[in-house]
Amino acid sequence: MLTGKTALVTGSTSGIGLAIARAMAAEGANVVLNGFGEKGAVRDLVAGIGATTAGEVVHLPADMAKPDEIAAMMAEAERRFGAVDILVNNAGIQFVSPVEDFPVDKWDAIIAINLNSAFHTIRAALPKMKAKGWGRIINTASAHALVASPFKSAYVAAKHGIAGLTKTVALETARAGITVNAICPAYVWTPLVERQIPDTAKARGLTEEQVKQDVILAAQPTKEFVTVEQVAALAVYLTGDQAKQITGALLPIDGGWTAA
Ligand code: NAD
Repeated sequence: MLTGKTALVTGSTSGIGLAIARAMAAEGANVVLNGFGEKGAVRDLVAGIGATTAGEVVHLPADMAKPDEIAAMMAEAERRFGAVDILVNNAGIQFVSPVEDFPVDKWDAIIAINLNSAFHTIRAALPKMKAKGWGRIINTASAHALVASPFKSAYVAAKHGIAGLTKTVALETARAGITVNAICPAYVWTPLVERQIPDTAKARGLTEEQVKQDVILAAQPTKEFVTVEQVAALAVYLTGDQAKQITGALLPIDGGWTAA
Protein backbone atom coordinates (compact mmCIF):
# COMPACT_ATOMS: atom_id res chain seq x y z
CA MET A 1 0.00 0.00 0.00
CA LEU A 2 2.88 2.41 0.71
CA THR A 3 5.32 1.56 -2.06
CA GLY A 4 7.07 4.73 -3.21
CA LYS A 5 6.17 6.62 -0.04
CA THR A 6 8.60 7.63 2.69
CA ALA A 7 7.69 7.38 6.36
CA LEU A 8 9.75 9.12 9.05
CA VAL A 9 9.00 7.88 12.57
CA THR A 10 10.56 9.76 15.47
CA GLY A 11 11.54 7.67 18.49
CA SER A 12 11.42 4.42 16.53
CA THR A 13 14.25 2.43 18.07
CA SER A 14 11.89 1.09 20.75
CA GLY A 15 8.28 0.46 21.70
CA ILE A 16 5.39 1.97 19.75
CA GLY A 17 7.58 3.83 17.24
CA LEU A 18 9.47 0.68 16.35
CA ALA A 19 6.21 -1.20 15.77
CA ILE A 20 4.91 1.63 13.56
CA ALA A 21 8.18 1.68 11.58
CA ARG A 22 7.97 -2.10 11.09
CA ALA A 23 4.36 -1.86 9.95
CA MET A 24 5.10 0.96 7.47
CA ALA A 25 8.03 -1.04 6.07
CA ALA A 26 5.81 -4.10 5.70
CA GLU A 27 3.58 -1.95 3.46
CA GLY A 28 6.57 -1.18 1.23
CA ALA A 29 7.48 2.33 2.43
CA ASN A 30 10.95 3.74 2.72
CA VAL A 31 11.46 4.21 6.45
CA VAL A 32 13.52 6.74 8.35
CA LEU A 33 14.14 5.47 11.85
CA ASN A 34 15.08 7.90 14.61
CA GLY A 35 15.87 7.44 18.27
CA PHE A 36 18.60 6.46 20.66
CA GLY A 37 20.26 3.08 20.87
CA GLU A 38 23.53 1.25 20.99
CA LYS A 39 25.25 1.43 17.58
CA GLY A 40 25.22 -2.32 16.85
CA ALA A 41 21.61 -2.70 17.97
CA VAL A 42 20.51 0.16 15.70
CA ARG A 43 22.46 -1.33 12.77
CA ASP A 44 20.67 -4.66 13.36
CA LEU A 45 17.30 -2.89 13.42
CA VAL A 46 18.00 -1.11 10.14
CA ALA A 47 19.10 -4.38 8.50
CA GLY A 48 16.24 -6.39 10.00
CA ILE A 49 13.51 -3.97 8.93
CA GLY A 50 15.26 -3.39 5.61
CA ALA A 51 14.97 -7.11 4.85
CA THR A 52 11.16 -6.90 5.12
CA THR A 53 10.55 -4.11 2.62
CA ALA A 54 11.09 -3.24 -1.02
CA GLY A 55 11.85 0.24 0.24
CA GLU A 56 14.98 1.59 1.87
CA VAL A 57 15.52 1.89 5.63
CA VAL A 58 17.88 4.38 7.26
CA HIS A 59 18.48 5.67 10.78
CA LEU A 60 18.96 9.39 11.44
CA PRO A 61 19.96 9.92 15.06
CA ALA A 62 18.68 13.46 15.75
CA ASP A 63 17.98 14.38 19.36
CA MET A 64 14.34 15.49 19.35
CA ALA A 65 15.06 17.94 22.14
CA LYS A 66 17.25 19.96 19.74
CA PRO A 67 15.58 22.03 17.00
CA ASP A 68 18.79 22.33 14.94
CA GLU A 69 19.25 18.53 14.91
CA ILE A 70 15.59 18.07 13.95
CA ALA A 71 15.99 20.51 11.06
CA ALA A 72 19.10 18.66 9.86
CA MET A 73 17.29 15.29 10.08
CA MET A 74 14.32 16.55 8.08
CA ALA A 75 16.62 18.08 5.43
CA GLU A 76 18.60 14.84 5.17
CA ALA A 77 15.41 12.75 4.80
CA GLU A 78 14.20 15.07 2.05
CA ARG A 79 17.59 14.96 0.32
CA ARG A 80 17.60 11.14 0.30
CA PHE A 81 13.98 10.45 -0.53
CA GLY A 82 12.62 13.67 -2.06
CA ALA A 83 10.01 14.19 0.67
CA VAL A 84 8.68 12.88 3.95
CA ASP A 85 5.20 11.70 2.90
CA ILE A 86 4.22 10.16 6.22
CA LEU A 87 5.42 11.89 9.36
CA VAL A 88 4.91 10.08 12.65
CA ASN A 89 5.68 12.23 15.68
CA ASN A 90 6.19 9.57 18.30
CA ALA A 91 9.32 10.29 20.38
CA GLY A 92 8.38 10.80 23.98
CA ILE A 93 9.60 10.56 27.54
CA GLN A 94 7.89 10.51 30.92
CA PHE A 95 8.67 11.74 34.41
CA VAL A 96 6.43 11.32 37.44
CA SER A 97 6.44 13.73 40.40
CA PRO A 98 4.10 16.00 42.36
CA VAL A 99 4.02 19.34 40.53
CA GLU A 100 5.64 21.36 43.33
CA ASP A 101 8.68 19.04 43.28
CA PHE A 102 8.79 18.61 39.49
CA PRO A 103 12.42 19.20 38.41
CA VAL A 104 12.54 22.15 36.02
CA ASP A 105 14.95 20.38 33.66
CA LYS A 106 12.55 17.40 33.42
CA TRP A 107 9.64 19.74 32.66
CA ASP A 108 11.65 21.45 29.92
CA ALA A 109 12.80 18.13 28.41
CA ILE A 110 9.28 16.68 28.29
CA ILE A 111 7.83 19.80 26.65
CA ALA A 112 10.73 19.87 24.15
CA ILE A 113 10.60 16.19 23.17
CA ASN A 114 6.89 15.39 23.54
CA LEU A 115 5.50 18.66 22.12
CA ASN A 116 7.93 21.12 20.55
CA SER A 117 9.64 18.49 18.36
CA ALA A 118 6.35 17.90 16.51
CA PHE A 119 6.12 21.59 15.63
CA HIS A 120 9.66 21.45 14.22
CA THR A 121 9.11 18.28 12.14
CA ILE A 122 5.71 19.43 10.87
CA ARG A 123 6.91 22.82 9.71
CA ALA A 124 9.77 21.15 7.85
CA ALA A 125 7.65 18.41 6.22
CA LEU A 126 4.61 20.43 5.13
CA PRO A 127 5.98 22.35 2.12
CA LYS A 128 6.79 19.10 0.22
CA MET A 129 3.51 17.46 1.29
CA LYS A 130 1.62 20.50 -0.01
CA ALA A 131 3.59 20.48 -3.28
CA LYS A 132 2.73 16.79 -3.79
CA GLY A 133 -0.89 17.24 -2.71
CA TRP A 134 -0.56 14.25 -0.36
CA GLY A 135 0.61 13.79 3.18
CA ARG A 136 -0.13 12.01 6.40
CA ILE A 137 0.83 13.35 9.82
CA ILE A 138 0.23 10.99 12.71
CA ASN A 139 1.03 12.11 16.23
CA THR A 140 1.39 9.52 18.96
CA ALA A 141 -0.44 11.41 21.67
CA SER A 142 -1.93 9.53 24.61
CA ALA A 143 -5.10 9.05 26.64
CA HIS A 144 -3.36 11.84 28.56
CA ALA A 145 -4.17 14.13 25.61
CA LEU A 146 -7.81 13.73 26.68
CA VAL A 147 -7.76 13.23 30.45
CA ALA A 148 -5.24 13.84 33.25
CA SER A 149 -3.65 11.76 35.99
CA PRO A 150 -1.90 13.14 39.07
CA PHE A 151 1.90 13.51 39.16
CA LYS A 152 2.22 13.77 35.35
CA SER A 153 1.86 17.53 34.89
CA ALA A 154 4.49 17.96 32.15
CA TYR A 155 3.40 14.88 30.21
CA VAL A 156 -0.30 15.74 30.37
CA ALA A 157 0.42 19.37 29.41
CA ALA A 158 2.55 18.25 26.44
CA LYS A 159 0.00 15.68 25.25
CA HIS A 160 -2.89 18.15 25.51
CA GLY A 161 -0.64 20.50 23.51
CA ILE A 162 -0.18 17.82 20.84
CA ALA A 163 -3.97 17.51 20.65
CA GLY A 164 -4.27 21.23 19.94
CA LEU A 165 -1.45 21.16 17.40
CA THR A 166 -3.08 18.19 15.63
CA LYS A 167 -6.42 19.96 15.29
CA THR A 168 -4.89 23.27 14.18
CA VAL A 169 -2.64 21.79 11.49
CA ALA A 170 -5.53 19.60 10.28
CA LEU A 171 -7.59 22.75 9.67
CA GLU A 172 -4.69 24.51 7.94
CA THR A 173 -4.12 21.56 5.56
CA ALA A 174 -7.70 20.36 5.05
CA ARG A 175 -7.78 21.30 1.34
CA ALA A 176 -4.24 20.12 0.58
CA GLY A 177 -4.65 16.33 0.49
CA ILE A 178 -3.04 16.07 3.91
CA THR A 179 -4.55 14.51 7.02
CA VAL A 180 -3.35 15.17 10.56
CA ASN A 181 -4.44 12.92 13.40
CA ALA A 182 -3.43 11.89 16.88
CA ILE A 183 -3.54 8.36 18.21
CA CYS A 184 -4.37 8.34 21.92
CA PRO A 185 -3.33 5.05 23.50
CA ALA A 186 -3.78 4.18 27.12
CA TYR A 187 -1.11 2.01 28.69
CA VAL A 188 0.91 0.06 26.14
CA TRP A 189 3.45 -2.37 27.55
CA THR A 190 6.75 -0.76 26.44
CA PRO A 191 10.00 0.28 28.16
CA LEU A 192 8.45 3.75 28.80
CA VAL A 193 5.72 2.22 30.98
CA GLU A 194 8.05 -0.25 32.64
CA ARG A 195 10.44 2.56 33.64
CA GLN A 196 7.79 4.72 35.36
CA ILE A 197 6.58 1.98 37.68
CA PRO A 198 9.24 2.48 40.40
CA ASP A 199 8.69 6.28 40.50
CA THR A 200 4.91 5.93 40.59
CA ALA A 201 5.29 3.41 43.41
CA LYS A 202 7.39 5.93 45.32
CA ALA A 203 5.04 8.87 44.65
CA ARG A 204 1.97 6.90 45.75
CA GLY A 205 3.55 4.78 48.50
CA LEU A 206 2.66 1.47 46.80
CA THR A 207 4.54 -1.67 45.78
CA GLU A 208 5.41 -2.05 42.11
CA GLU A 209 2.88 -4.89 41.70
CA GLN A 210 0.16 -2.69 43.26
CA VAL A 211 1.04 0.06 40.76
CA LYS A 212 0.55 -2.35 37.83
CA GLN A 213 -2.77 -3.77 39.06
CA ASP A 214 -4.33 -0.92 41.05
CA VAL A 215 -2.99 2.18 39.25
CA ILE A 216 -2.17 1.30 35.66
CA LEU A 217 -4.78 -1.33 34.80
CA ALA A 218 -7.28 0.33 37.15
CA ALA A 219 -7.67 3.03 34.51
CA GLN A 220 -8.38 0.53 31.75
CA PRO A 221 -11.84 -1.07 31.90
CA THR A 222 -10.65 -4.04 29.78
CA LYS A 223 -7.87 -4.67 32.35
CA GLU A 224 -5.47 -5.40 29.50
CA PHE A 225 -2.49 -3.50 28.15
CA VAL A 226 -2.74 -2.16 24.59
CA THR A 227 -0.18 -3.81 22.29
CA VAL A 228 2.29 -1.95 20.08
CA GLU A 229 0.99 -3.91 17.08
CA GLN A 230 -2.55 -2.60 17.68
CA VAL A 231 -1.28 0.99 17.69
CA ALA A 232 0.79 0.37 14.55
CA ALA A 233 -2.22 -1.10 12.72
CA LEU A 234 -4.21 2.07 13.43
CA ALA A 235 -1.32 4.19 12.15
CA VAL A 236 -1.17 2.19 8.91
CA TYR A 237 -4.96 2.51 8.52
CA LEU A 238 -4.63 6.31 8.78
CA THR A 239 -2.25 6.33 5.80
CA GLY A 240 -4.80 4.63 3.52
CA ASP A 241 -7.39 6.07 1.14
CA GLN A 242 -10.15 4.74 3.39
CA ALA A 243 -8.98 7.19 6.06
CA LYS A 244 -8.92 10.24 3.77
CA GLN A 245 -11.78 11.96 5.59
CA ILE A 246 -10.35 11.34 9.04
CA THR A 247 -8.46 14.49 9.95
CA GLY A 248 -8.10 16.56 13.09
CA ALA A 249 -9.18 13.49 15.06
CA LEU A 250 -7.96 12.40 18.46
CA LEU A 251 -8.41 8.63 18.29
CA PRO A 252 -8.48 6.73 21.58
CA ILE A 253 -7.16 3.16 21.68
CA ASP A 254 -7.56 2.74 25.39
CA GLY A 255 -9.67 -0.25 26.41
CA GLY A 256 -12.50 2.12 27.30
CA TRP A 257 -10.54 4.38 29.67
CA THR A 258 -11.77 7.73 28.32
CA ALA A 259 -15.35 6.46 28.01
CA ALA A 260 -15.64 6.37 31.77
P1 NAD B 1 9.85 3.92 24.55
O1 NAD B 1 10.59 4.46 25.70
O2 NAD B 1 9.72 2.45 24.35
O3 NAD B 1 10.41 4.54 23.19
C1 NAD B 1 10.68 5.91 23.08
C2 NAD B 1 11.48 6.16 21.83
O4 NAD B 1 11.76 7.56 21.77
C3 NAD B 1 12.83 5.43 21.81
O5 NAD B 1 13.13 5.05 20.48
C4 NAD B 1 13.80 6.52 22.28
O6 NAD B 1 15.14 6.32 21.83
C5 NAD B 1 13.16 7.72 21.63
N1 NAD B 1 13.58 8.98 22.24
C6 NAD B 1 13.49 9.36 23.54
N2 NAD B 1 14.02 10.59 23.69
C7 NAD B 1 14.42 10.99 22.46
C8 NAD B 1 15.05 12.16 21.96
N3 NAD B 1 15.39 13.17 22.77
N4 NAD B 1 15.35 12.21 20.65
C9 NAD B 1 15.05 11.17 19.83
N5 NAD B 1 14.45 10.06 20.24
C10 NAD B 1 14.14 9.97 21.54
O7 NAD B 1 8.39 4.60 24.65
P2 NAD B 1 6.95 4.21 24.05
O8 NAD B 1 6.12 3.70 25.17
O9 NAD B 1 7.07 3.42 22.80
O10 NAD B 1 6.41 5.67 23.73
C11 NAD B 1 6.35 6.21 22.44
C12 NAD B 1 5.31 7.32 22.40
O11 NAD B 1 4.04 6.78 22.77
C13 NAD B 1 5.60 8.47 23.38
O12 NAD B 1 5.27 9.70 22.77
C14 NAD B 1 4.65 8.17 24.52
O13 NAD B 1 4.31 9.33 25.22
C15 NAD B 1 3.48 7.59 23.77
N6 NAD B 1 2.58 6.78 24.58
C16 NAD B 1 3.03 5.67 25.22
C17 NAD B 1 2.14 4.93 25.97
C18 NAD B 1 2.55 3.72 26.70
O14 NAD B 1 1.80 3.24 27.55
N7 NAD B 1 3.73 3.14 26.43
C19 NAD B 1 0.80 5.32 26.08
C20 NAD B 1 0.38 6.45 25.41
C21 NAD B 1 1.28 7.17 24.65
